[in-house]
Amino acid sequence: MAQDLRSFLDLIKRRKPEDFQIISKPVDPAYEITALVVKLEREARRRPVLLFENVKGTKFPVLTNLHASRRRLAAAMNAAPEETQRAYLRAMEKPIPPKVVKTGPVKEVVLTGDRVNLYDLPQIVHHEGDAGPYLTAAISFAKDPTAEVWNCAYNRLMIKGRDTTSIHLTTGKHLWEFHRIAESRGEPLPLALVIGVHPAIALGALAIGSIDEDERGIMGALLGEPLELVKCETSDLLVPAHAEMVLEAEILPRERTPEGPFGEFTGYSLGERQREVVKVRAITHRRDAMFQDITVARLDHMLLSTIPIEANLYRAVRAMVPSVKAVRVPGPFTCFVSIEQRVPGQAKNAILSVLGADLYMKRVVVVDNDVDVFDDRQVNWAIATRCQPDRDITIVTNARGSDLDPSTREDGYTAKWGVDATAKPSLAAYTPRHRVPPGVWQRINLKDFLA
Ligand code: MN
Repeated sequence: MAQDLRSFLDLIKRRKPEDFQIISKPVDPAYEITALVVKLEREARRRPVLLFENVKGTKFPVLTNLHASRRRLAAAMNAAPEETQRAYLRAMEKPIPPKVVKTGPVKEVVLTGDRVNLYDLPQIVHHEGDAGPYLTAAISFAKDPTAEVWNCAYNRLMIKGRDTTSIHLTTGKHLWEFHRIAESRGEPLPLALVIGVHPAIALGALAIGSIDEDERGIMGALLGEPLELVKCETSDLLVPAHAEMVLEAEILPRERTPEGPFGEFTGYSLGERQREVVKVRAITHRRDAMFQDITVARLDHMLLSTIPIEANLYRAVRAMVPSVKAVRVPGPFTCFVSIEQRVPGQAKNAILSVLGADLYMKRVVVVDNDVDVFDDRQVNWAIATRCQPDRDITIVTNARGSDLDPSTREDGYTAKWGVDATAKPSLAAYTPRHRVPPGVWQRINLKDFLA
């Protein structure tokens, strides 16, 4: 089966052995893992997958930095690195439904009752100021309590007791919606938290779309075969049969607990908030399970989430502006779009599409297709030279956005803005860009002038 983490690691070891680094020296899960990932990247210019064999306080080895390379993520989708966006879009357009199987390696060890103890897991503290150990690589699998609608997502979990965590549900998103439905009925929401998966499954979990779109079908399409699922021991939820570990749990109704601060992808460590409470009912895992961590707010985290966001935004803009050329998410809450504008107004439509397609998007810049959105200098140049702020900036007030944006007065209640940095009335009619006359350009040969 090619849908487990181990077979993907074997592929990396075969193709590029230096991309897989085992660390046998004991490490403290508090800060040392993050320190090693960041130092390797900054000082040695390396970002291999890291397997820490000896992590203090736990028998589980820790795998991290799996997603820190675009090449590895492309390999996970069986695509060339420059084809990642197209490969992801294809998977969104042609999902492959999952299939239920009787059992799988994730059931080799089943722990229930008193044997559930989250303190047996690696107690990883990522950054200074974090309120405690967090699970950052758990994918939640859940179902609408009133309908056959499934959802997968990443949710950060702070370990708060032997069988208790807090959970950060992004206000207004799909799992939050399921929990609100369950809570209004006074019921807990069954939840399964899946740790240690093939990166195609990780990429699929981050798909952004309608609540009706089943992330598990996108996972299957990225894998090229149906995702194999097994039933949980303590609920009817279905989880990947080949995962390293599953925490079977539920989100309690009408209970909240202090959570945070926690250093996030925004570059900030937002303060303590009251969040929902998770009770873990069972832990199942492979006999020699690896525990996966995502090095939060670093490439491991940022690259993984960017590919699905960009694919969805490209899809959304293309629905309104068929001549869209490229979409890039260069940083938190920000999107750059290039279009071939055929008629006035299309840049504005692109802005509206982006803001309408992703809760987190707050700033959109639209440029003409002669500007490379992957070059920040070119985008800045276009804003400076093709935009009149009183005419070309659109501000939307009182919208819902990320609850992790520290600039808002109330978490998640935000203004959004779009910058139309396209040439007006059209690129063809705009002031020409300077250039050396083509005849001279072709005639001049450096060799003739330099000794
Ligand atoms: Mn969803």
